This record gives sequence, C-alpha cells and structure tokens, in this order.
Amino acid sequence: MSDWRKKIKDALPAAKLDEPLARYTTFRIGGPADCFVELKDAKELATLMRLAKDLKQPVLFIGFGSNLLVRDGGVRGIVARLRGEFEGIEFLDGERVRAGAAVRVPQFVTACAEMGLCGDEPLVGIPGTIGGALVMNAGTREGEIGPLVVEVEAFDPESLSATKIMAKELEFQYRRSNLEGRVVLGCVLQLKRGDKVDIMKRVQEYQQKRLQTQPIHTYNVGSTFKNPPGKFVAQLIEKAGLKGKSVGGARVSPLHANFIENFAKASASDVLELVSLVQKTVKNSLGLDLELEMKVVGEP
Ligand SMILES: Cc1cc2nc3c(=O)[nH]c(=O)nc-3n(C[C@H](O)[C@H](O)[C@H](O)COP(=O)(O)OP(=O)(O)OC[C@H]3O[C@@H](n4cnc5c(N)ncnc54)[C@H](O)[C@@H]3O)c2cc1C
Repeated sequence: MSDWRKKIKDALPAAKLDEPLARYTTFRIGGPADCFVELKDAKELATLMRLAKDLKQPVLFIGFGSNLLVRDGGVRGIVARLRGEFEGIEFLDGERVRAGAAVRVPQFVTACAEMGLCGDEPLVGIPGTIGGALVMNAGTREGEIGPLVVEVEAFDPESLSATKIMAKELEFQYRRSNLEGRVVLGCVLQLKRGDKVDIMKRVQEYQQKRLQTQPIHTYNVGSTFKNPPGKFVAQLIEKAGLKGKSVGGARVSPLHANFIENFAKASASDVLELVSLVQKTVKNSLGLDLELEMKVVGEP
C-alpha cells in the first residue's frame, strides 16, 4: 500500500482502497478509485481535507452519481461522498429550509410538500443529491434549483474551513454553476407556502409524467446532452435515426433518445463511443454541435 493511502486509512479507517466506483453511479459503470471514503461529519471532512492537502492528493466529491460517467481506468487520488450529518433537513422560520448536501432531492421535495411548502416540485424526479443539484443547477423546463437558493455552505480546500456563499455571489446557468470545483456542504432554500393536498398532487403528476416518458428503471444518468438553444436534443437524435442505436452494452434509449442506457454490462468506452457516434451523426445530418450534460471523470 502506498504511503499516502496508508495515512488516509490510518486516520479514516472506513476508507476503501481500489474501490470500484460502478456501485456508486446510476450508470453502474466505472473503474476503481485509489481511495474512496464516506464522511459522516464535519470532523471527518476536515481530517480528510487536511490530509489530502498535506499529501497533495486530489479529492473528487460525488453525490448520488446520477450524472457521472466514471471511465474504465477509474479515478486517481481520493473520491469522497458526504453522509450522516450531511443528510439532514431543517425547517427554519417562515418558508426557508436548510438541507445538507447529501439529502436526496426527491426526499427533500416530499418532506417540504408534507410541510405545506412548495416551489420545488418540478425537481421531484431528479434522483441526485442536493449537493449535486446545486453544482449542476439541476432542473426541468418547469424550474431549476438555482432561483430557490438563499445561501450555500461550502468547504474551502485552501483555508480548510467552511464558508457561506450568499445568493448574490452565486451564478446559475443551464446545468452549470460557479460551485463546480468547490465542496458543497448544504444550502438554505426559499420556498412558498401552499395547500398540502395541491402540492402533493403536483408532485405525483411530475412523477407520473416521468414514468411515462423516461426509462427510469434502467441504468442511466438522465440527459446525456444539453438542449441546444431553442431545440430538444431528444428530437434531434431521433431525427438523425439513432433511437435504439447501440455500441457494446450501451444504447440510445428506445423510450427517450437523450438517455443512454447501460443495458448489457457496458463499459465507459462503449458509452463514449456511442456519444461520439451521436455527436458526429447529428453534426453531419443537422449541422448542430451537441454538448455533454453528463460529467465524465477518471482515466481511460
Ligand atoms: C433517471 C434520471 C433522471 C434525471 N433527470 C434530471 C432532470 O430532470 N434534470 C436534471 O437537471 N438532471 C437530471 N438527472 C441528472 C442528475 O440526477 C442531476 O444532474 C443531479 O443533480 C446530479 O446529482 P448527484 O448527487 O447524483 O451528483 P453526481 O452525479 O454525483 O455529481 C455531479 C457533479 O456534481 C459534483 N458534486 C456532487 N456532489 C458534490 C458536493 N457535495 N460537493 C461538490 N461537488 C459535488 C460532482 O463532482 C459532479 O461534478 C437525471 C438523472 C437520472 C438518472
């Protein structure tokens, strides 16, 4: 065992070495992390970040892995996931709610609905964590998380301390934010008060719509590509004749053409080959460049 990994294991015994990351992504694809660790509280986080800085090892934070393609060679350095203390929801005075980065978005929306709080219902079908949703500015045509944010708590790897970032310092764009590269610990969101029965009804309608239009029971990471301005990428891929097209164990979903499914033990390279086939075909037939929405990490 290399010296740096021994030091991490000594300080955080739950750390796992050469841990396959496929089990931490909804694609069920991905090679091993040199070192994988789940952090249950601020103390463990501080320990890891101090060690990583001393040992000069990069740390990649992941949430539910629902927007991640981990390449087959895995990730060098440390991969970390927040749990425990970071999974809490706290209802503050009025219509504000504090959520830890590790809270799952559907769980958050449902808990708020039960308290008669709304404004976040369009997010209910997004399977990731609050942390991942903030970094990605996750959302749907009906609404994104960004406009709801009052403040974000983040950890600064340089000063090794937690800081608050207020809404006016945050930039949220289409599936992108200026939180990328920071360690997100949680946030406060501003919701609205509404009728509990109506909110629940809307939540169920959003869930129902997804069941009919998206292959949510397969291994995938949601939308593969961003919609080009004014266009729907699923329609473009379908128009280019690629619905159902496969490479190895990866295929363009027969239900929703912007989803790629791992239908038969796909490797990350199968997915990436299919991605580039889709990009080339759409470029040649429709003259449009498709930008990835999913994040690709790790080594080939
Ligand atoms: C069936 C399905 C449907 C989906 N539908 C939608 C949708 O409607 N709209 C939408 O926007 N997305 C959708 N997604 C994609 C995905 O759920 C979102 O992008 C989600 O916000 C990712 O959250 P995560 O916790 O899984 O993040 P991950 O996939 O684990 O990570 C995503 C990015 O965030 C970073 N990150 C995660 N947590 C932290 C943290 N605590 N600190 C710092 N960085 C962090 C990672 O490093 C990575 O860059 C869907 C996915 C699936 C599988």
